Amino acid sequence: MGEERLLDGVRVAAEISAEVATEVAALKTGGVTPRLDVVLVGEDEASRVYVGSKARACAKLGMESQTHHLAADAPQEEVEGLVERLSRDDAVDGILVQLPLPSALDTGAVLERVDPAKDVDGFHPMNVGRLQRGRPGLVPCTPAGIMELLRREGIEVAGRRAVVVGRSDIVGKPVAMLLLHAHATVTICHSRTRDLAQVTREADILVAAVGRKALIGADHVKPGAVVVDVGIHRVSDRDEVERLFPGDEARLELLARRGSVLTGDVDFSAVAGRVSRITPVPGGVGPLTIAMLMANTVRAARVRRGA
Ligand code: NAD
Repeated sequence: MGEERLLDGVRVAAEISAEVATEVAALKTGGVTPRLDVVLVGEDEASRVYVGSKARACAKLGMESQTHHLAADAPQEEVEGLVERLSRDDAVDGILVQLPLPSALDTGAVLERVDPAKDVDGFHPMNVGRLQRGRPGLVPCTPAGIMELLRREGIEVAGRRAVVVGRSDIVGKPVAMLLLHAHATVTICHSRTRDLAQVTREADILVAAVGRKALIGADHVKPGAVVVDVGIHRVSDRDEVERLFPGDEARLELLARRGSVLTGDVDFSAVAGRVSRITPVPGGVGPLTIAMLMANTVRAARVRRGA
């Protein structure tokens, strides 16, 4: 497919990051260095990788960050106590609790300990409510990133039919709400939706946040639609890579070099020829999530400090 059809998350994320870096520099001349504190509980490998990349992103943009690592069996009171302490600490601008937490912990109760003014993930009920009401607040990073991508790539949203597949609190619900505020006609699909393809074929803008590898195929997409693929899956089986990316030698080379390649909730090879624009995986939504986390942290610092 032509490169011009790709929605370039890497480019848009770089653009946002450059703007954030300029804002950080301006805040620093005023004596404020925005600081993000990350709470990591347990040893989940993927979570450790994500936390590392968030800390590196902060450093790159001139912000401070601290990671607080608790043991996998940390009791509820210890985790809530740490989050409360960070909420009270005036030096901390943003607090992020890396999810998922170990299953023994009550995630909702932990998230409610985050000061809504420092809630850079936008998961506190106060910010969820603000989003629903269309009031200013901190918006979850992946959904906010998707809206920035659509806006900066010149995709018209108002009046168009948007279908979101997935109803999670992290992606599906908030992105549906943002699309609604941007005046799309929004449908949310989920695991109990009957005849998914019939609904998704109505979409001018289709957002897949399902967590099921290559679930969205050619039959699910209306010709000319805009497709945003939120899913991230690691594939290490060569036959599967060949099936998902027929004739893609570069992908097979990557597999040989790295032992795995990434793919999304959309069957990219099957769908790309039918759509007007589509996000690749990797290089679509992923880079935007971190860029928006940085943007949210700077915003939280400015608002709370009146800077
Ligand atoms: P989740 O598992 O919390 O939610 C998945 C949703 O999909 C559920 O609401 C479920 O009802 C729905 N669903 C499941 N099977 C379905 C089916 N067969 N048909 C229709 N709907 C179905 O997942 P999530 O946290 O929203 O994440 C979704 C995907 O996005 C995952 O692959 C995750 O790794 C990825 N993700 C990526 C980023 C990023 O930065 N790119 C950020 C967050 C999540």
